[in-house]
Amino acid sequence: MVKFLDLKKINLAHEAELKQILEQVLLNGWYIRGKFHDEFEQQFAGYCGTSHCVGVANGLDALILIFKGYKELGILKDGDEVIVQANTYIASILSISIAGLTPVFVEPDAESYNLNVKNVKDAITDKTKAILAVHLYGKLSPMKELMALADERNLILVEDCAQSHGAIDDRGIKAGNLSHAAAFSFYPGKNMGALGDAGAVTTSDEALATTIKTMGNYGSKKKYYNEVKGVNSRLDEIQAAVLLIKLKYIDQENAVRRKIAQRYLDEIKNPHLILPDHKQAKTDHVYHVFAIRCEQRQNLIDYAESNGIQTLIHYPVPFHKQDAYTEYAHLSLPLTELIHEQILSIPISPVMEKEEVDHVITVLNEYRSG
Ligand SMILES: *Cc1c(COP(=O)(O)O)cnc(C)c1O
Repeated sequence: MVKFLDLKKINLAHEAELKQILEQVLLNGWYIRGKFHDEFEQQFAGYCGTSHCVGVANGLDALILIFKGYKELGILKDGDEVIVQANTYIASILSISIAGLTPVFVEPDAESYNLNVKNVKDAITDKTKAILAVHLYGKLSPMKELMALADERNLILVEDCAQSHGAIDDRGIKAGNLSHAAAFSFYPGKNMGALGDAGAVTTSDEALATTIKTMGNYGSKKKYYNEVKGVNSRLDEIQAAVLLIKLKYIDQENAVRRKIAQRYLDEIKNPHLILPDHKQAKTDHVYHVFAIRCEQRQNLIDYAESNGIQTLIHYPVPFHKQDAYTEYAHLSLPLTELIHEQILSIPISPVMEKEEVDHVITVLNEYRSG
């Protein structure tokens, strides 16, 4: 069976180093915001190229705290509009709602599945105050153009980097440093995963970083003195320690993903399948998932399964068809709906064997529409 993602194998590749650092956490006797936490914040900011990184409890909190942080600073206020692509994972959208802002949905680009700059421009109103760009599937959004637009219209540009650790644009700038503030998730299944929930914000805005750090600690800088009504959202010492090890290998592991992606791009040739629009696996894509499209998707899923290949759908139901968001059920988003009906993710990971990649290619090339 070719697993969709073998998390145990991914982590056991670093077994000795992980065991050693986890033992040090135990022996250090300091379990929240300790020395590995501070070291990770510093190293991850350095890695992304920002002046600050703030560890938080998970990726959703990272997004929420960015928006709430801007509210605390008086830059955003209740009801301000935030433009976001309609085909993203629900967490991106939840963060806007939870922060008391108003999401405004645009159809994505039909080829990249990311924000389409023209659609964003068309959606801007007097109430628009921010854009949330999600680097979906691991591919960078058109950040140069979006930043120019944000500058021109005086908008806050936020990146959702939950799927794009280590992606680099053609100017050599990394995900997390392509906007005013970026949110990362280190959920175990992400490219850089912890051994539990974890997240971070990267930014070069010192006031925002300080605000988020305070808000994530009950609104307190000094113990038992509370400046604002904060929450408890901190990066555990144990996860920070794990992430210090994972950070050493992220570039190497992304390179393996890219190699596999290049083989898929070159070798999967089947008129029933729509591959990603690019021919070359470049550094602006870290292939968190390799998403293909197929008109008769269930057919393909069953066929792959019967040939020993696990697949997953990112994502089966668009937000406006979810029970959680019935207030948007009336929206017509044909492209978003089409993507959700046809998209399918095939196995890709830094620990896939050559034979497994061979098998996926052979099976997909032999697939005939049912
Ligand atoms: C995983 C994910 C999140 C949320 O991260 P958590 O750590 O699970 O809270 C947000 N946005 C996107 C695009 C994601 O894939």
